[in-house]
Amino acid sequence: MVLIKTEEEIELIRHSSLLVGKTLAEVASHLVPGVTTLALDKIAEEFIRDNQGIPGFKGYNGFPASLCISVNDEVVHGIPGKRQLRDGDIVSVDCGVKKNGYFGDSAYTFAIGVVDENVLLLLERTRNSLYRAIETAIAGKRVGDIGYAVQSYVEGFGYSVVRDLVGHGLGKNLHEKPEVPNYGRRGQGKELLEGMVIAIEPMINLGVKNVTQDKDGWTIRTADKMPSAHFEHDVVIRKGYAEILSTFDFIEEVLSKNK
Ligand code: MG
Ligand code: MG
Repeated sequence: MVLIKTEEEIELIRHSSLLVGKTLAEVASHLVPGVTTLALDKIAEEFIRDNQGIPGFKGYNGFPASLCISVNDEVVHGIPGKRQLRDGDIVSVDCGVKKNGYFGDSAYTFAIGVVDENVLLLLERTRNSLYRAIETAIAGKRVGDIGYAVQSYVEGFGYSVVRDLVGHGLGKNLHEKPEVPNYGRRGQGKELLEGMVIAIEPMINLGVKNVTQDKDGWTIRTADKMPSAHFEHDVVIRKGYAEILSTFDFIEEVLSKNK
């Protein structure tokens, strides 16, 4: 069943989504070569708890950390650990927060130091594909319109769309109906209804679409070991537009200062 949220619920999701955006910005300010992914996770957990939130991922199906940190060929669900980030890495940081009973969920892929130009383009275009998808996420359209927007755009550059993982509804639960794939056909799939809140999260590979899972039971990586990018926003379906509840503004303020 797809849940339609009241305006009151939407405000609570927005509040959690904004805390996610601020947490990601806090992480962004510590993204330097040499930092371990575990150190970043500690910073995020502390920040979330200092702001009266609960890390949304920690303990979810047994996931051990507050952030999913996925480097280079890792697509999503990377477990923070001893790994040190290095100049030239790209790193997807995915964060979930529960506060006042409602979740927020957002992700951003960062470049560490000097990154290959082709990989920077992958990041930029994956981010663009998210906003293109959001433009189609309006009442009366269908889930397939969102997937089509992502797929048609990124495949034009020769990239591929990860099929095994998808966006999702969210609210009282981190993952709710409907599933929101990043591929699809126009006019197909579940109808988007006013008041639905969904997380749209393109996962785009420079090489092949196939992915594998590590023995840790979590980390998803590209089958060909080529880089992958991931950006995620939470949006509410409105008449004629999608309202974005999460934000990259805090993150990009930090990034612009580091330039
Ligand atoms: Mg996420
Ligand atoms: Mg998500």
